[in-house]
Amino acid sequence: MEIQVKGLRKHFTSEGKIIKALDDVNLTIPANTIFTLLGPSGCGKTTLLRCIVGLETPDAGEISIGNEVVWSSAKNIYIPTEKRKLGMVFQTYAIWPHMNVFDNVAYPLQSQKVPKDEIRERVAKTLSFVQLKGFEKRPATKLSGGQQQRVALARALVAEPKVILFDEPLSNLDAKLREETRKELKSFLSKLQITAVYVTHDRVEALALSDTIAVMKEGQIIETGDPKKIYFNAESRFVADFIGRANLVSAVVIEQTESNTIVQSSLGKLKCKKADFPNGEEVTLCLRPEFIHPRKGTAEGTAANIIPGKIETLVFVGDAYETEIRCADMLLLARLEPEMDLESGDQVFFEVKPNQCLIVAK
Ligand code: ADP
Ligand code: MG
Repeated sequence: MEIQVKGLRKHFTSEGKIIKALDDVNLTIPANTIFTLLGPSGCGKTTLLRCIVGLETPDAGEISIGNEVVWSSAKNIYIPTEKRKLGMVFQTYAIWPHMNVFDNVAYPLQSQKVPKDEIRERVAKTLSFVQLKGFEKRPATKLSGGQQQRVALARALVAEPKVILFDEPLSNLDAKLREETRKELKSFLSKLQITAVYVTHDRVEALALSDTIAVMKEGQIIETGDPKKIYFNAESRFVADFIGRANLVSAVVIEQTESNTIVQSSLGKLKCKKADFPNGEEVTLCLRPEFIHPRKGTAEGTAANIIPGKIETLVFVGDAYETEIRCADMLLLARLEPEMDLESGDQVFFEVKPNQCLIVAK
């Protein structure tokens, strides 16, 4: 089911100050996709999710789920949480420690007074889907973090909701388990015909899981797009920086050619990916570390987009070296193959491809 959010506003007052948790949020979440709200802590992600679920009352705006308006200030509509037919998975899982796996998963059906035989059947089907068949009698406390996560998912799915919402569901797992569980979750979700709204502050999680990412900042949605659009074609400095590691360089637009935008920066004159800015505009250049491939030596001639520098630091991180290259007045971060032959102090140069020089607003 599609979800529509229009003009949503929610302000809190804390110690006499107004906190704009949601500040005119407009959003369409298409049916049957994985849609992620990504942003730093405190930007309003949980508040937005809680408004959609009905656990928080907004100040203004409208929320529709499918064809039904579930909340509207102007039309004075409020559909309570239990009638919105949603499933929710929280950061803490909120599974009940005193109950076994079966009872945890059966709970939503029991509270809907579904007949016992049907409950048994549906719980069995859901547990088998999340690969917990045979765990029915296991006390919830005797499960690993990953298994608890799957119980929480099963409980959210058992009533067959059309929409499932996740609030940072993997943040309590250690790094390795988080990666495994993320893959598992993606495979579960792709098998379901369901709209998933996923909240996280973890950019890798957002990139790996989502069909669409909406980046939030200070109560507003800044940019929306598929993971590659957000990573490679961000429009703002904030998004370019938040979604991945980035070298951000101040620049000024000096020329527009048919297929490129030319800027002047402390790295020299650079031919960049075409961007819609007027000449003279101050912009920010975003160079991803993985696009910088330095070679030993000094560049011959003065070809465009060739940047000289000196290796300042080199750190071995297992699958790569991370290096800082001093270029003019800047230190640029780059990732190098582990078998490269550079040392700190080496003079290097590298070429940046125009379509890998992204220009974003200052
Ligand atoms: P996120 O989930 O992105 O970390 P939240 O939606 O939890 O952010 O919070 C957004 C902002 O609203 C934060 O500044 C937070 O402190 C504030 N906030 C959230 N809930 C309340 C509340 N009940 N009372 C006061 N301030 C709140
Ligand atoms: Mg939160």
